[in-house]
Amino acid sequence: MLTLYNSLTKQKEEFHPLHEHEVGMYTCGPTVYDYAHIGNLRTYIFEDILKRVLKYNNYHVNHVMNITDVGHLTGDNLGDANTGEDRMEKGSKREGKTAWEVAEFYTARFQENMKDLNVLEPSVFCKATDHIPEQIAMVTKLTEKGFTYTTSDGIYFDTTKNPDYGKLVDLQNQELQAGARVEMGEKRNPHDFALWKFTPEGETRQMEWQAFGHMGFPGWHIECSAMATKYLGEQFDIHCGGIDHKPVHHTNEIAQTESTTGITPWVKYWLHGEFLTVDNNRMGKSMGNFFTVDSIKEKGFDPLAYRYFLLLAHYRKQLSFSWDALQAAQNGLQNLRRKIAEIPDHVAKDQHHSDAFLAAINDDLNMPEALAVVWNGVKEGTLSIETIIHFDKVLGLDLHQPKVAAEPIPEEIQKLLDERVSARDDKNWARSDELRDQIIASGYDLEDTKDGQKVKRK
Ligand code: AMP
Ligand code: ZN
Repeated sequence: MLTLYNSLTKQKEEFHPLHEHEVGMYTCGPTVYDYAHIGNLRTYIFEDILKRVLKYNNYHVNHVMNITDVGHLTGDNLGDANTGEDRMEKGSKREGKTAWEVAEFYTARFQENMKDLNVLEPSVFCKATDHIPEQIAMVTKLTEKGFTYTTSDGIYFDTTKNPDYGKLVDLQNQELQAGARVEMGEKRNPHDFALWKFTPEGETRQMEWQAFGHMGFPGWHIECSAMATKYLGEQFDIHCGGIDHKPVHHTNEIAQTESTTGITPWVKYWLHGEFLTVDNNRMGKSMGNFFTVDSIKEKGFDPLAYRYFLLLAHYRKQLSFSWDALQAAQNGLQNLRRKIAEIPDHVAKDQHHSDAFLAAINDDLNMPEALAVVWNGVKEGTLSIETIIHFDKVLGLDLHQPKVAAEPIPEEIQKLLDERVSARDDKNWARSDELRDQIIASGYDLEDTKDGQKVKRK
């Protein structure tokens, strides 16, 4: 029996989908104005594990992920749709490209990251800008039902008209209070939010549409409600995101969708992943403390070492990132792959491990425990390759690699090695020694052999 922690009921629950064997799942995707950082990717990997666990339990998963390519203002995450700049327009200015080009570029980079990290593709990958009519229709319906009011800069959702508003979080809770730290402007209530924004008089935006008697663009939350309902129906099983989406984005998605359809609950299970932190702070673009998959690769790490690192912690616990911790995870993963490569073909299937593995993953995705099952079985020599390949359908760590690939040497180290070859050809031993010291100080062991320099990460 699969149990999951449901943010809506604030407890662990047995999972029962609305339709037998079928699961509808919506995950909030990236805003494609910049690279995703590895904190964002923690959330997508947690969602990937959830999807793989559902599949392992023989459910067919219809997974929808959106791409936010319009309407997400820099103030939105604080619940303030009035402040900040449009992220896409900001990216466009920064890069001297159109907002459309910026969106296309970072969508492609995001998809590469997903591939590098063995994240399975969603069944539907949908862009906000391809679903403007659906969003306009929802705002129209909300207006007809009396849930909105219009100000000089947009159409707002009146949260006092929705008695259930804030049910995902405790109203007295600080999480929701944080959402109220906003400039009121013409808003009637602190939590009210923009469904649709008007382009200011005299301005032209790169992304704008004619609706409600003005040029304008959608508020951030409406796209998820419109697309999730379109692809998964007026009621479906699972909706996920990072923990910061609970008090504002998901709270507002629920309010506007349930007010449109009158069906409660819109989504049965809400799951949220905790933050990746650095030195006790959330990793975030605005914090300036973030790394990307590219920075991991440039340092010579296997991106799957990052995936392994994440699986060592439970998704509902904060996890602190450091390069040392990533190095330890990479060593662990390589060690595990090496041991697996040595398993003889004749190890018999041992049901005991499969039961323990299933119990771990079905206990609210207890991946640290699932990895412990794999390690124990490998150490005992009682885990067959066939079983490991089956477990890896959930883990996604490419565990069965007959030969462990050599770690690639980063470009900057390769440059030092090349320069050292030239120095030695010129018999400039002092320079050669200097370069050797530099390579060693960068974390590599260097050996001069009759076949040339041999280098490997310490
Ligand atoms: P955003 O583009 O800000 O909407 O973020 C994309 C996803 O990453 C959302 O699900 C966020 O909740 C999540 N996220 C942002 N920062 C972090 C972090 N430091 N750790 C884990 N998830 C994060
Ligand atoms: Zn969303």
